[in-house]
Amino acid sequence: MKRILCGSLLIAGLVLDGRFILAQPCHFPTANHALLQPGGEEKFFVGTVGKPWATGRFGCVRTDGWQMHEGLDIKCLQRDSGGEPIDPVLATAEGTVVYFNARPSLSNYGNYIVLRHHIDGLEIYSLYAHLKKIRDDLKIGQAVKSGDAIATMGRTSNTREGISLDRAHVHFELDLLVNEGFPRWYKNAFPTRRNDHGEWNGQNLLGVDPRLVLLEQHRQGTNFNLANFVRNQAELCRVLVRASNFPWLKRYPPLIGRNPLAEKEGVAGYEISLNYNGVPCRLIPRAASEIKNKARFQLLSVNAAEYRKNPCRRLVIKRGQRWALARNGNNLLELLTY
Ligand SMILES: [Zn+2]
Repeated sequence: MKRILCGSLLIAGLVLDGRFILAQPCHFPTANHALLQPGGEEKFFVGTVGKPWATGRFGCVRTDGWQMHEGLDIKCLQRDSGGEPIDPVLATAEGTVVYFNARPSLSNYGNYIVLRHHIDGLEIYSLYAHLKKIRDDLKIGQAVKSGDAIATMGRTSNTREGISLDRAHVHFELDLLVNEGFPRWYKNAFPTRRNDHGEWNGQNLLGVDPRLVLLEQHRQGTNFNLANFVRNQAELCRVLVRASNFPWLKRYPPLIGRNPLAEKEGVAGYEISLNYNGVPCRLIPRAASEIKNKARFQLLSVNAAEYRKNPCRRLVIKRGQRWALARNGNNLLELLTY
């Protein structure tokens, strides 16, 4: 009796496991899965020079919490006889190649590749950086399957200090794209600055925490939904924009809530919740009759506890007793509604 019970549990587990694999939208980008082991973080993350592993996570983890790291730095597992990393880098999900930079001198990301995915109604981008080599036959527009090897891990970067052998890692991001008009907007907003990467400039890609995505989908299995994950981000602040037609609305419809009054009277603007990294994670349409203020962008509220925890993007600022949109916050909303 006991044996049969054990057997059936085993089968149930395998079936469940099978469903996990089918349902998981995001695959680990290398064979390093130590994140899933209790206390495995040290084997998974690479910290910055002389700093603990936690500085290799996503978030306000650099420069005493005042600098954002928009991805995960994942430790290499395999090296050649010279100690160079040789881990295959794998597509996190089925998708399309949209960009690669094969001139390391043009970016602190060195050689990197960007894939576009459609997951749970969202257009999501994955980015893999510091690569030694991108697979030769990959072309822009080419389809890749989840888990396909797309590159070899490396140490490329244009920073003066470079990346040492012992810190070899892949920098991995999961991003949402703000606006395909970015190159034009950037040229107007910053006429003297160079933009070598078109719409694939880091300022136009807003990352979500891949560590939480990987852990949550492991925990929730088939119940995990990436749109819910983004919608449930903690709010840093809430803003009202007087704009009713901008690319984010078309690219991320699952993030838009309903408002019968605005549906009846016409949408004049959106009330938007931003998370600490500036991701517009919830948008509520507003009718003209609901918008009292004439300003193009209005800061409605700030979650001070969230700001204390994660201030590094400097989207808002407290002047005396009043919160205001900081320059970064204003630029983000300009780009969002451009
Ligand atoms: Zn990194």
